[in-house]
Amino acid sequence: MSEMKKIPEYYGSLVFNDRVMRERLPKDVYRAVHKTIENGTHLELDVANSVAAAMKEWAIENGATHFTHWFQPMTGLTAEKHDGFISPEPDGSVIMDFSGKELVKGEPDASSFPSGGLRATFEARGYTAWDPSSPAFIKDGSLYIPTAFCSYGGEALDKKTPLLRSMQALSHEAVKVLHILGLKDVTRVTATVGSEQEYFLVSKDLYKKRKDLLFTGRTLLGANAPKGQEMEDHYFGVLKPKVSAYMHDLDEELWKLGIPVKTKHNEVAPGQHELAPVFETANIAVDHNQLTMEIMKKVADKHNYACLLHEKPFEGINGSGKHNNWSLSTNTGLNLLKPGKHPEENLPFLTFLIAVITAVDENADLLRVSVASPGNDHRLGANEAPPAIISIFVGDELTRVLHDIAEGTVSPQHASVTMYSGAEVLPHIAKDNTDRNRTSPFAFTGNKFEFRMPGSALSVANPNIVLNTAVADALSQISERLEGMTPEEVPDKLTEVLRDLLNKHKRVLFNGNGYTDAWVEEAARRGLDNLKSLPDAMPRWISQKSIDLFTRHGIFTKEELVSRYDILLENYAKTIHIESLTLQEMVRKDFTAGMMAYLKDLTAEALQKKELLPEAACKLEKTRIRTLDEYGTQIIAALTKLEQDTQRAEAETDLLSCARYYQEVVLTDMEELRKVVDAAESLIPDDYLPYPTYSKLLFSLR
Ligand code: ADP
Ligand code: MG
Repeated sequence: MSEMKKIPEYYGSLVFNDRVMRERLPKDVYRAVHKTIENGTHLELDVANSVAAAMKEWAIENGATHFTHWFQPMTGLTAEKHDGFISPEPDGSVIMDFSGKELVKGEPDASSFPSGGLRATFEARGYTAWDPSSPAFIKDGSLYIPTAFCSYGGEALDKKTPLLRSMQALSHEAVKVLHILGLKDVTRVTATVGSEQEYFLVSKDLYKKRKDLLFTGRTLLGANAPKGQEMEDHYFGVLKPKVSAYMHDLDEELWKLGIPVKTKHNEVAPGQHELAPVFETANIAVDHNQLTMEIMKKVADKHNYACLLHEKPFEGINGSGKHNNWSLSTNTGLNLLKPGKHPEENLPFLTFLIAVITAVDENADLLRVSVASPGNDHRLGANEAPPAIISIFVGDELTRVLHDIAEGTVSPQHASVTMYSGAEVLPHIAKDNTDRNRTSPFAFTGNKFEFRMPGSALSVANPNIVLNTAVADALSQISERLEGMTPEEVPDKLTEVLRDLLNKHKRVLFNGNGYTDAWVEEAARRGLDNLKSLPDAMPRWISQKSIDLFTRHGIFTKEELVSRYDILLENYAKTIHIESLTLQEMVRKDFTAGMMAYLKDLTAEALQKKELLPEAACKLEKTRIRTLDEYGTQIIAALTKLEQDTQRAEAETDLLSCARYYQEVVLTDMEELRKVVDAAESLIPDDYLPYPTYSKLLFSLR
């Protein structure tokens, strides 16, 4: 374990970051790279060669022998293929070689990655292209180069490409609005993201004994432990020593990779924890979150834990989410969502705030799709996570300000005069004042928005692509209406535009408790969507509105949208299919074996007792045997139904109806089967079962 004082020395030591580039690149090359990073301009080959040479030197000095283009295919995971730096010479020796061309472009044989039909028609291979805006790093003896992954036709086959496109669109539209507002020195606006990551730790030995955890990442059966999270004694509780050692090691590994994790604590559920990094630009934050998830698992393995990133690993206790904190900052250092002391006078703030409100109301369905996954369906709408209805929490003070704007009783630029002359000025909207409404799926938290719907395993690329695009679009609506105005005309016109937008979209604002049934009814009255499951939500992704939005800003073509639609639906069906097969096998073999063994012992015991003591009633044994026998009958029936219904799924050829079938029929069958098995399990002593129970899994961490 390193000493605390050494952190600044090893922090980022495995990253080819700006400091290393400044030290190692010729000045003009360094400047050229910077220009590319900032403006997305083309990089000349000689510059790329020079960067490649410096990267190679640095990587070899730090123990790397290989390099890999690292990319994020549409599976939601990351992918890599390693090439050695070595290049054989005619005399039998080797030199270590790495060219600008190899840095800039790669051609992995990627035909096995899902492309949703995009690539199959003309070219099986895709290519990877260096993303200089996310720094290269060393891991496991290889130099990792973050890249985008596209088809030869230029279609995006990954999550980074559309994310970068959305950041560009957002910057473009935001700068346009800021120029109209007179902030002419702003040339670039960046989306910033900090994603809080929840996870569970369980003992590795126990984990390995559960096929459901191994194959599906969640438990498919298991009676609840007598104790769950009701005592709320785990949240922010004292870290157990071994867990603490894990977190320490994890911090260190992440810090070496320049990932600024800062906060860690126990979460609500037993065995559940959270970590949060300091925010970064969206692109780097996404890369870093992907890396974080990988390293979390790897370090857990070293500590004899398994790290569960599934959104709902255990029934009956909280699942895991990933809060996506999001804001906008200018190249001049301004956080556009910071209200300042007088938000009612702060035109840029109000403009961007109302743009976000507009964006979220207009595209709530797409935001819902962006967090859709088979695992997250078990969370959203259940009584622990934000509901599947998207609403925005802004807190009481901003609600008042927005109300006045909507009513037209105040114009932002005159607010201090008309509204607050002589009266108290509004207090600074501190984080604490914006409350901690934990039930809101989309909350303003002082100087950023926190989107709380993403699941713990999700790539945060998805929600940020949608958010960036939706806000870009709202901003473009604003600037369109201000086109051709003189600077003197802008404030009045802008007030009018903001008022119109607010009146149109204020239905999405909701400060109350989002977990209640009353809200579900109220939301329906307001016309807000409640898209409960992935199959419910997916059709929105390929709706005309979605196609118009994404093509208008150059984020996705219609084909790219359709390919993602196909992949998600297919993945959903496959996931539940595997879950069904796993549950069937566990019940058919493992559970049944355990139950039989217990019944056998019970029966033998009763018979022996009877022999010894003919007058014995054997009431306990008889009742238990009879109850378990009845459960046995029910289990057979439920298992047979699940088997047959799962087979029937193969007849569904349309992707959407297939997904729906899995959700409506197969998942329901699985729940029915689980109910009986769990009831039976609660009568069987732990030792008879070949896998650990909930009690063991959740309460054995030290
Ligand atoms: P909590 O939500 O627990 O109160 P914080 O408010 O400190 O915690 O921060 C939560 C996350 O929000 C952190 O990852 C933090 O880096 C991130 N965050 C803070 N400011 C911004 C910002 N301007 N843009 C994006 N994320 C931010
Ligand atoms: Mg938070």
